[in-house]
Amino acid sequence: MAEHTGRERTAIVIGGGLAGMLAVTALRGHVDTITVIERDRYPTDRTFRKGVPQAHHLHIFLSGGQRALDRLLPGTVAALTEAGARSLYLPRDLVTRTPTGWQRRFDERRHPTLSITRPVLDAVVRERALRATAGPATRVEVLEATEAVGLTGDARRVTGVKVRARNGDRSAGTARELRADLVVDASGRGSRTPRWYAELGREAPQEETVDSGLAYATRMYRPTAQDGEPAVGVNIPGWPECPRGAAYIPVEGGNWLLTLSGVRGHHPPTDEAEFAAFSATIGDPYVHELLARAEPVSPVHGFRDTCNRRRHYERPGAVPDGLLVLGDANCTFNPVYGQGMSVAALGAVALRDTLDAAGGPGPGVLARAQRAVCRAADPAWIAAVGADRPYVRGVGAKAGLGERLTTWYLDRLSARAAVDRVVGAAFRDVFCLTAPPSRLMAPHVVLRTVLLPRRPGLPRLPAVVEAA
Ligand SMILES: Cc1cc2nc3c(=O)[nH]c(=O)nc-3n(C[C@H](O)[C@H](O)[C@H](O)COP(=O)(O)OP(=O)(O)OC[C@H]3O[C@@H](n4cnc5c(N)ncnc54)[C@H](O)[C@@H]3O)c2cc1C
Repeated sequence: MAEHTGRERTAIVIGGGLAGMLAVTALRGHVDTITVIERDRYPTDRTFRKGVPQAHHLHIFLSGGQRALDRLLPGTVAALTEAGARSLYLPRDLVTRTPTGWQRRFDERRHPTLSITRPVLDAVVRERALRATAGPATRVEVLEATEAVGLTGDARRVTGVKVRARNGDRSAGTARELRADLVVDASGRGSRTPRWYAELGREAPQEETVDSGLAYATRMYRPTAQDGEPAVGVNIPGWPECPRGAAYIPVEGGNWLLTLSGVRGHHPPTDEAEFAAFSATIGDPYVHELLARAEPVSPVHGFRDTCNRRRHYERPGAVPDGLLVLGDANCTFNPVYGQGMSVAALGAVALRDTLDAAGGPGPGVLARAQRAVCRAADPAWIAAVGADRPYVRGVGAKAGLGERLTTWYLDRLSARAAVDRVVGAAFRDVFCLTAPPSRLMAPHVVLRTVLLPRRPGLPRLPAVVEAA
């Protein structure tokens, strides 16, 4: 790494995962060197690594996130498709079973959703992000097998990062300090920035959590040759009376991922025999019946920490100069809504736009960028928390009046969206993060949602695609 001389502008990105790579892209051209600190060593092929444990599970990339990704790294959505990502239009190719029945399959073609295994997605983005930054304007170096263990500086300003090498046997080397003008924490849901604040003499940022208690268990399947692929992917989220769900969606290479989910008291098992049995207990038999026509090709993997958690780094004085927090380190979501990666991409766009507008990371610019990053997460937060609150127990169970109204309205609106083209289009625009939540308050959407009588969804998964 180039030493900090005062002449060169240097940046450190903690975490070389998705948000870390997008941070590299956003910083490109605004600093002279970027050093990425990554705890893992990247695999030589596009396979799973320990630092991203959620990578075993189903990951969809919403259309809003795809747009942001292509703004940051043009051509990446096409590269993902080339790598085998399946593009599924909502609700034509990926259909949801709501509490009252199946969604109608309108041929809307406004929201293509990408589905690809996470290790491949991360590798494609990483290869492109590092290649794009390899030009003369910004030098990029990745320190693999290196862990960030603290921040340097004081309560007012961050001046660098304490790191130490991780050896193959996971033992740790001696800590050393790397200096930088700016540090981006993109270390994911386990971010230690709140703890590191204490060492800087700061109070931890205020944190908000809304935990539905959901757990995931995922297994990869391959449809048998004689039966072929199912016509559509399906999403069957649980609902309060039946809090067990499933999603069965194709990924690259002819495989399908089955994620089973359930809230407290209904956690899906990771035992292989029990896993298949659990699929028979969700609110619709469709997925369980399909398993007879598919072979498992992986073990079952579980995941429990699915809490919505945001740290209020946007509040005045909540980040010291020289620090910005991005991706899951800033805000994590219940994964059932498929938003986290898209929010990371939207946050990186917000960072880049702020730097572009300010002509670089001058005084006060990072704090402005942090507020923009947090604002980019707001729509997803409102949606996830509004939908999850009915499942929360204990701390965080009590919502304010505004949020109770949001939950009531969203519940009515999502039921209507399953059967109504107009309300459905608005619902998808917002949940795919291509339109602000205010789109749901457009008079024609409100009137159709509130005044039209509730209608149930379809009793069976519709074979027929309807005109939009
Ligand atoms: C079960 C599950 C399913 C999900 N499904 C979806 C989905 O369908 N769609 C969607 O958009 N999102 C989904 N998400 C969310 C998505 O996984 C995250 O939003 C996304 O990974 C965030 O990227 P990130 O780079 O911030 O964090 P991560 O991808 O977790 O990357 C963090 C990186 O930082 C490194 N690191 C951590 N600590 C340190 C340290 N101290 N020093 C150096 N390096 C460090 C790690 O090794 C890793 O490389 C899901 C999440 C879960 C848990």
